[in-house]
Amino acid sequence: MRRPAVLTLLLVLVASTGRAQDSPDVYLGDHMPFAAFDRLPADRLLVAGGEITVAVAPGALEVPRAALLAWIQQSASAVAGYYGRFPAERTRLLVVPGSGRAVSRGRSWGYRAASVRIVIGAQATPADLARDWILVHELTHLAFPSVPSRHHWIEEGLASYVEPVARVQAGQLAPEAIWAELAAGLPKGLPQPGDRGLDHTPTWGRTYWGGALFALLADVEIHRRTQNRAGLQEALRAILATGNMETSSPLEPLLDIGDRATGVPVLAELYGRMKDQPAPVDLDALWRELGVAIDGRRARLDDEASLASTRRAITAPRPMPAR
Ligand SMILES: [Zn+2]
Repeated sequence: MRRPAVLTLLLVLVASTGRAQDSPDVYLGDHMPFAAFDRLPADRLLVAGGEITVAVAPGALEVPRAALLAWIQQSASAVAGYYGRFPAERTRLLVVPGSGRAVSRGRSWGYRAASVRIVIGAQATPADLARDWILVHELTHLAFPSVPSRHHWIEEGLASYVEPVARVQAGQLAPEAIWAELAAGLPKGLPQPGDRGLDHTPTWGRTYWGGALFALLADVEIHRRTQNRAGLQEALRAILATGNMETSSPLEPLLDIGDRATGVPVLAELYGRMKDQPAPVDLDALWRELGVAIDGRRARLDDEASLASTRRAITAPRPMPAR
């Protein structure tokens, strides 16, 4: 049957508007594309304390859907294990097919509802996904309230530091890997000439690695002062209990909540020292105390070192709280 021309034209218009709306650019913009996401076929994953809705933007992915979902489940479980529960009750996770084999980038938002976008190479295999760190990093962002932009370093620093710790605790990464990675990366977070402290030096190095340095120093010092009864993890669990990335807060009250949970004012003190002055750190001395020796790109761990028990306590799995 022939359609009247005007109806055909209307159908073409509707079809092309639909296509234009959901073109790849829609999925890669600066905001979570809620409307386009909600039109995609979705799977639901349950993880302790939360539900993740997973949808894949149009495009080819070689990895089978079941393997993709298993990897997301595993990444979300590592984050839930670290925080005692998944940091958001409902999360939208948008997977966008990209080029190559790697997970190339990710982003997370808390402004309307917890949501994460991850770009995965069209040729990525399950083994490529197992090597990825970006998804756990993005999911970790959901666990910390949104803070004013001068403190962006703590958002990126915590996500960068917690990601490998959570994966080691979940048995998804060897402990040597995290220490080798920190030893290679943390020098990029040290203050350079002209540095004005973490709140006033928004360079890439100070934001990501300077923030991770703050997290590691806090973790070691909380463990040291509490004889390994508590660490940064207990502080972050307490902060999450008051709000996740879907909420916003000034930074100081969050640090106080963390300090009250551990019983030692390490976060407030460290922040006071690092926020508006360079506060250099002797990393070599820290590695000696923790018993981390770098041999090329690998770390050798020394259990005789003075803070070896702290190093082990940092990556030891914590019990999930009773629900
Ligand atoms: Zn990040």
